[in-house]
Amino acid sequence: MITRFKFSPNDRIVVLTGAGISAESGLKTFRDSDGLWENHRVEEVATPEAYLRNPELVWRFYKQRYLQLSEVEPNPGHKALKQIEDFAGGNFTLITQNVDGLHRRCGNKRVLEIHGSLELSFCSKCLAKFPMNEIDLEQSLPRCDNCGGLLRPDIIWFGEIPYHLDIISDILCQADFFLVVGTSGVVYPAAQFLHICKSYNAITIGINLEEPKNSYLLDEFHQGKAGELLPELVRIWTRGK
Ligand SMILES: [Zn+2]
Repeated sequence: MITRFKFSPNDRIVVLTGAGISAESGLKTFRDSDGLWENHRVEEVATPEAYLRNPELVWRFYKQRYLQLSEVEPNPGHKALKQIEDFAGGNFTLITQNVDGLHRRCGNKRVLEIHGSLELSFCSKCLAKFPMNEIDLEQSLPRCDNCGGLLRPDIIWFGEIPYHLDIISDILCQADFFLVVGTSGVVYPAAQFLHICKSYNAITIGINLEEPKNSYLLDEFHQGKAGELLPELVRIWTRGK
């Protein structure tokens, strides 16, 4: 028996995913151990100050990250999470720290991208959003069609407040199951989300390459790759609907 749990059709299931599941598709992020993202430091490309200092460099960086998305595909871990949404429907929420859109591309609908999306930008003046595929990426500094303001990637940078936090606390309080996938569970926001779910009696399950230090908050921990473990776990959790 690899898991002692099973979902019921009315269970509210919340999943939090982090860099680990994207890494299995070949994408790197800052959460890799060396603290660099494709050889750039956080302070160079992922703070509001970096953007003010050198917007061309920041744009070049995110354009490359955006273009790289066409070279990767959702992996079996993403596909297994899609199956959970198929099972739970409106009772499912996927919260992701990833900005690559792979969950949406895999077919998940109820996705909250708390760190934004590489596929969007917004006007730093009037805040209008623009899909990247509608922007002329040949320009070194794309501008807003409405007001001429500078566009910036729709990415939550260090020091900025993540998206959707207002609705997430309600969702966490009501969860019957909370799954943490591809993130250590020690660092904010995963650690805080885990605490909330635990204090409201959700069943908590972790899947990650390394066992987190706060694994005492997890009712079950599975060590390894999401793409290798999740397909079988999901098959068992959703069996017998
Ligand atoms: Zn504008």
